[in-house]
Amino acid sequence: MGIPFIDLKSQYKRVENEVRSGIEAVLEHGAYIMGPEIRELEAQLAEFSQVKHAVGCASGTDALIMALLALGVGKGDAVFTTPFTFMATAESIALLGATPIFVDIDPETYNMDAASLKKAISKVHDEKKLTPKGVIAVDIFGLAADYDAIEPVAKNNGLFLIVDAAQSFGATYKGRPVCSIGDVACTSFFPAKPLGCYGDGGMVFTNDDTMDELLRSVRVHGQGTDRYENVRLGINGRLDSMQAAVLKAKFTIFPEELELRNEVAERYREVLTGVEDLVLPTVPEGYTSAWAQYCVLARDARHRDELQGRLKASDIPTAIYYPLPLHLQKAFADLGHAKGDLPVCEGIADRIFALPMHPYLKAEDQKAIAEALAG
Ligand SMILES: *Cc1c(COP(=O)(O)O)cnc(C)c1O
Repeated sequence: MGIPFIDLKSQYKRVENEVRSGIEAVLEHGAYIMGPEIRELEAQLAEFSQVKHAVGCASGTDALIMALLALGVGKGDAVFTTPFTFMATAESIALLGATPIFVDIDPETYNMDAASLKKAISKVHDEKKLTPKGVIAVDIFGLAADYDAIEPVAKNNGLFLIVDAAQSFGATYKGRPVCSIGDVACTSFFPAKPLGCYGDGGMVFTNDDTMDELLRSVRVHGQGTDRYENVRLGINGRLDSMQAAVLKAKFTIFPEELELRNEVAERYREVLTGVEDLVLPTVPEGYTSAWAQYCVLARDARHRDELQGRLKASDIPTAIYYPLPLHLQKAFADLGHAKGDLPVCEGIADRIFALPMHPYLKAEDQKAIAEALAG
């Protein structure tokens, strides 16, 4: 039995009865789409995130698209974001015809750097080709971006702020739940995320009543007050009742799982501190992470190969998030970026790799991981 990278089986065993009875209830009442589970889950997660409104949707990607649609983003708009993220963050911007403007990251948290953001906004202003419209900050690996630095930059430039909390649901920034930050926050319930369902799912959060109405409209093809009245363009972005039932069951143990993830991260710090030339993740003062991933840095690409090879020889799985930053992806070739444009991000991408991380990771397995890394 190897060490799993994530362990959804142990989790399932804990909530099996609740999951089964939740799905059973949906089969009985038959409201597969927009059943009562949706509103119940929305209310629970809004309360947990200390935010007024939560709108369930079909995926984290749809959450971002719905937020951008509701904020009126389109052709000629510039939306500033990080290149060190999953494709969906920037893809959603480009799909709406707007232009993603990539800004470099902080070398310690791997999140958007506020000073680079400020510079990028000035540049777009000066070039006068695109209209600066908004910012999508990402809480990479479960750790919040530096919102005290990013929020004023967005505000002073008249830009909206979307928090891509796909990896950070449950994390906090200086006492604030991440999904209460920004004009809109988006999360994902993909199975591997900190709170995952058994398929695709997502949610959008906002404190703004008008935004909530817009999000509910774009979720169903821009519906007006009447079912077959369409007042704007939208998508089919609904969360289904069975996934909401699964999430309600899993949410009962989610706060405890967050604590367990933090204990696992703590233990990693203890056992990995002595490993030569290995940089461990930082959690700045006042932040709590949801630990979607536990990512470490090797000295360079060759050293990373060596460390991953040692772990592989011991049957320990690893992964690289993300080997190629978005500004260098073929899909964004028309933006005209070249290697060297965003050096901090590129340097991190060459060195980073992820170790197994889940709430049920055992201390003895973490010890084995540390021993394999030490060689
Ligand atoms: C997973 C993820 C998404 C997309 O979520 P899906 O539910 O897979 O569509 C968006 N942004 C980030 C940062 C993610 O990690």
